[in-house]
Amino acid sequence: MDGTLPHHTAPVLILLGPPGAGKGTQARMLEEKFGLVQLSTGDLLRAAVAAGTEAGKRAKTVMEAGELVSDDIVIAILRDRMAQPDCEKGVILDGFPRTAVQAEALDALLAETGSRIEAAISLEVDDAAMVARVAGRYTCAGCGEGYHDDFKQPIQAGSCDKCGSTDFNRRADDTAETVASRLEAYHASTAPLISHYREQGALLGVNAMGEIDDIAAKMAVIVKEATR
Ligand code: ADP
Repeated sequence: MDGTLPHHTAPVLILLGPPGAGKGTQARMLEEKFGLVQLSTGDLLRAAVAAGTEAGKRAKTVMEAGELVSDDIVIAILRDRMAQPDCEKGVILDGFPRTAVQAEALDALLAETGSRIEAAISLEVDDAAMVARVAGRYTCAGCGEGYHDDFKQPIQAGSCDKCGSTDFNRRADDTAETVASRLEAYHASTAPLISHYREQGALLGVNAMGEIDDIAAKMAVIVKEATR
């Protein structure tokens, strides 16, 4: 689909940070707290792979290698999703933009809808810790709640704290080897966007090395301020 996007002035937040920084976890918390819609291009791409769409077929091997999916595919997927009516509540972009071309496409898309970037929040973490975080993580198949072998097991073993499901998923690309490529792609293509958003006056940095709930509390303050 490449139709006209609905016009609205809903807030747009961007989460920037390497794989494992906690973008997805924090986006889910912000979604709950502020009624915004989490929009993860990683999730959208995994859905396209699972559904076997043309875009999914092209993305699959690239994702498994920990490299970036081509801008045209990702931009088309994001555009389709942004055309859904729920996005009028405002969105948290998790994993997009990841390249300068995507950042430009986003600016053009937002000019069309009338919304604007309230804040680009950079989750600041130590690279060295990211491999351990990503390699042990998994999510509930029922509700998407995130867990980790070492850092966050369900209270009752084998059963999700949130929804009770006993099914869990591990991503094919969450291996120590693939994380190294993903970190490399982050530093080469995505980290430069930090200065891009700093120049736009939209950048806010958050130290994201502590406890999930403490980081969530800091994020909530920032988001409240940014969306006022
Ligand atoms: P993470 O941030 O933990 O690496 P994501 O779920 O955001 O995980 O992304 C997983 C993979 O999906 C990436 O390694 C990449 O191959 C692909 N991907 C997601 N978003 C984008 C994007 N905006 N541009 C290019 N590739 C993307």
